[in-house]
Formats: sequence, C-alpha cells, structure tokens
Amino acid sequence: MKVAVFSAKRYDREMLGAANAEAAHELVFFDHLLDSSTVALAAGAGAVCGFVNDRMDAPVLEVLAKGGVGLVALRCTGFNNVDLKAAARLGIKVVRVTDYSPHSVAEHAVALILALNRKIPRAYNRTRDGNFELDGLMGRDLHGQTVGVIGTGKIGRVFARIMAGFGCSVLGSDPYPDPEFEAHGGRYVPVAELAERSDIISLHCPLTPGTHHLVNAASLARGKRGAVLINTSRGGLVDTEAVIEGLKSGQIGGLGLDVYEQESDLFFQDLSGTIIADDLIQRLVSFPNVIVTGHQAFFTQEAIGTICETTIGSITAYAEGRPLEHEIQAAA
Ligand code: NAD
Repeated sequence: MKVAVFSAKRYDREMLGAANAEAAHELVFFDHLLDSSTVALAAGAGAVCGFVNDRMDAPVLEVLAKGGVGLVALRCTGFNNVDLKAAARLGIKVVRVTDYSPHSVAEHAVALILALNRKIPRAYNRTRDGNFELDGLMGRDLHGQTVGVIGTGKIGRVFARIMAGFGCSVLGSDPYPDPEFEAHGGRYVPVAELAERSDIISLHCPLTPGTHHLVNAASLARGKRGAVLINTSRGGLVDTEAVIEGLKSGQIGGLGLDVYEQESDLFFQDLSGTIIADDLIQRLVSFPNVIVTGHQAFFTQEAIGTICETTIGSITAYAEGRPLEHEIQAAA
C-alpha cells in the first residue's frame, strides 16, 4: 500500500523504513506538516501517516477521502489533531500508538523536575564559563514534597511510581481511578485539594474540550504559592498567558514544558537563524525558572522503535482487511 508519511524527520525515515522491511509498503516521506496546503501531496496514497502537529481537520480529511485514503495512522498517542467525527463520516479509520514506552515521557517529566529544582542548566552554563559560584543554585530535597499527578493513565502511573521512589507524597486526580496508582502509594483527592497541597504538579491527561486550559488564572490562584508545574502532555492544557502572569507574580515557582499551545509553528524545526514572532514562547524562555523542551519526551530508542513497529503493523492489518487493534472510535 502507498502511504504518505508527513512531518517525516531523518529518524522517521530510518526507523519506519526498518520496521517496514518485511511488509514493504510504499512509504513516501514528506518533511511538511499535513494541512490544507500540503494535503495534495497524499494523492494516490491509500493511507497517511501523521504526527502530533499534522492538522487532520474536516476539510483535510475530505480531500484525503476523495483521493482514496481510508486510513490515518498516527505515530503518537494523542489524537486531538484529528476530527474523529469527520473521519467516521467519511469512512476513514484512525489508528494511533497507545502502548509505547510510558517510561520515556514519565522519565522526561522527572528530568524537567530535577533540572529545574537543582538548576542544572544554570550550573552547566556557569561551570563551562569557569564560574564555580553556588549562589543562586540552591534547590530543595524532593524527599518529603507533595507531587500532584493529573491523569493517572499509563504515563501518569509510571511518573507517580518514580516520584514515590524519591520519597514524595503522591496525590492523583483522574475521572477513572486506577488501583495500581494506589497500590504504589498514590492517593486520589479532588483536583482542588491536589492543587492546594502540591509542591509539584505534573499533567498527564489528554487534551479534550473538557481539559482545554485546565491550568488557567483561576486554577493557578487556588494552587500553592511557588509550586512547580510540569506539562509533558499537550500544550492546550495550559493557558500560557495565565502561566506567564503566574511566573511574574511568583505564584508559579518553576515551569517545565515539553509541549506548548502554539508549538505547531515552532517545534521540530531549527529556527535558530530566524526572528521568532511568537512573543509568548520568547517570554517563557526568558525566565530563569522555566525549561522548555521541544516535544521530545517520547524520543527514546525504545519508544520510537515500538511506535514504528505498531504503525507499520496497523497499516498492514488495514491493507489485509484485518481488525484494527489500535483504532480510535469517535465519541458518540
Ligand atoms: P492514558 O490514556 O493512559 O492516560 C490518560 C489519563 O488521563 C486517563 O487515565 C484518563 O482517565 C485521564 N484523564 C482524562 N481526563 C482527565 C481529567 N480531566 N483530569 C484528570 N485526568 C483525566 O494516556 P497516556 O499514555 O498516559 O498519555 C497521557 C498524555 O500524554 C496523552 O494524552 C498525550 O497527550 C501525552 N503524551 C505526550 C508525549 C510527549 O512526547 N510529550 C508522548 C506521549 C503522550
């Protein structure tokens, strides 16, 4: 089957290519994001393979369906960038990759916490410049701190287990509580109590209409002063302008972001030689207590290997008319 692969980086070409060795689908790689201006590139393909910032809204899906695309294979977990209702109406099936190393993202969230808390970027820059001064580098023991986990699914549970290992008290909020979270020492509390009590809050829930701007001016005001916020989930969970105000007032004591609301115009590209017009990201990276990474939490060899194998497996199952284990159903 001919598959148009969008947002394809060197590692996608190499690792999808390796995973495709046996199935031998005709993979056609495009660097571009999939959106209404690039959708014509999928002409002649039976499937498209997309990533987090490809925009598969109704107009794009209509063009894809007209051109004979029957499958959208997402090589990621989140699917907020696909209009599932439009896909169902047009007879396009959508698959994703749910089960790749949750450790990759959970460990990255922990890396952000450690780097912020112990001011590793500042220390790194200082010592490279021959400055061995400690002033300004004081952190806090993680042991004994309270960590709030919003969304205790696969990633949230791994994250909770790691933080419990540091000796933190772990609080959770999730509409579907999981006994495994409690078995590892976590405790479910209402989200307002989690916000009030947590020294560190880490977001691990999906972006849906109900979770859009879950972190906003009102919820930040209810939180503990100086708390650290970590978002490795989706940018839209956080109202960026409210967070900037929180950082300026000291209500937020540290911010670790791997995702950003307007990331589709920025991430996964080298813009170092250009003038970045997005004032919010520029303001964010100017704070000494903010670390931004460019949606790299998933980016481990283990996770990418599984993502590529699962994606090719789904494409093969679709091509052979077999049931799609990883199909996403549109909510009724
Ligand atoms: P998952 O489906 O296993 O878990 C998500 C959990 O969030 C579920 O338990 C669900 O009940 C819960 N949830 C839903 N709405 C909630 C709400 N309003 N409040 C609290 N909890 C809520 O998903 P996962 O594999 O753990 O992934 C979590 C998220 O991580 C994904 O949605 C994706 O956006 C993000 N992610 C980011 C990266 C990255 O590289 N940065 C990689 C993979 C996944």
